[in-house]
Amino acid sequence: MMKFELEQESWMLEGACSSMDSDLFFPIGSSMKAMKQIAEAKAVCNECSVKLDCLEYAISTNQDSGVWGGATEDERKTIRREYRKTGKLVSY
Ligand code: SF4
Repeated sequence: MMKFELEQESWMLEGACSSMDSDLFFPIGSSMKAMKQIAEAKAVCNECSVKLDCLEYAISTNQDSGVWGGATEDERKTIRREYRKTGKLVSY
């Protein structure tokens, strides 16, 4: 799902999305189509063996768009706040 130039991390190769169209993970807007896309992306993430690595990476590198580790931008804001307060990464 490498939409942008990112430093390659070993876990990325193991992602369930590694051979998928990255557009699925970067829905645009809040239309029904986008909501459906988010649900589909999250379903892939929920079966992914590197979900927590992905979420931690997105939180620590401030990825502000797309679905990462099963969490949307807004969900990651909440997760990031908790992470800063408690040092614990709470997955959705
Ligand atoms: S958690 Fe989701 S976005 Fe992250 S590597 Fe896995 S499938 Fe891709």
